[in-house]
Amino acid sequence: MVEEARARRPGQVVMAELDLLLMGPPGAGKGTQGRLLGEALGVPWVSSGDLLRHAIEDGSALGDQARHFTARGELVPDRVIVGLMSGRLEARDARGGFIADGYPRTVPQAEALAAALDALGRRLTAALAILLPDGEVVDRLAGRRTCPECGRVYHLKHEPPARAQLCDVDGVGLIQREDDSPATIRRRLAVYHQDSEPLIAHYSERGLLREVDGTGPPEVVAERLHAAAASGA
Ligand code: ADP
Ligand code: ADP
Repeated sequence: MVEEARARRPGQVVMAELDLLLMGPPGAGKGTQGRLLGEALGVPWVSSGDLLRHAIEDGSALGDQARHFTARGELVPDRVIVGLMSGRLEARDARGGFIADGYPRTVPQAEALAAALDALGRRLTAALAILLPDGEVVDRLAGRRTCPECGRVYHLKHEPPARAQLCDVDGVGLIQREDDSPATIRRRLAVYHQDSEPLIAHYSERGLLREVDGTGPPEVVAERLHAAAASGA
């Protein structure tokens, strides 16, 4: 079970951290599910895409470097994202664990994460991969709308806000992400298949992979993910 204690060295028993990855193609539901799972398990949900978007909005040097790549649907260079995520995952609120959404996205990033966790005496609990066919990815990304204030995600058809185009939480007008345009969606999918899909085999070989069917309503996907997270601990 996820709450179980684990012996790290002979004679020393510590509570196991819950260090989870949330993988899957763009639009698979990582953000939607990561928020829910983080609340359910009591660990922070950390989205690499959100961190990058905040860095870009803040006008930081790192954000300026990243903008060029995110706008075109390309991955930002490994060293940029590894530096950003390593710092975040070592923060105080992630000491008991985390749900990393969208990180790692390449094998070198996975190796950097494993080394960083190793240096902290921690190991990954499980890599949860949400599976979704390309056709559904396109439908989900094309209809995605986001609140620029609180980051809450909606879908025009599947998860509409109560009042058209306005966030349920704070009433702010919803926006469409720049990279959710048809051409950039196609590019992101191609990048996913080329650079990120190899992580499925990477984590499978290490006995950490838990694949979860991403089709169906969000609450059904949430149940599947929760079961997979529990079986990984
Ligand atoms: P989605 O939710 O659609 O999967 P994200 O919000 O996670 O997309 O990411 C948006 C963009 O941020 C990506 O297309 C990429 O440019 C960049 N990005 C996010 N995470 C990473 C990462 N781990 N490595 C490289 N680039 C990343
Ligand atoms: P990701 O973070 O993987 O890119 P999101 O969580 O942002 O994915 O979801 C992409 C879009 O699909 C959003 O508009 C979201 O509201 C919608 N969505 C998420 N999960 C489901 C689901 N199970 N069924 C239908 N639509 C969904």
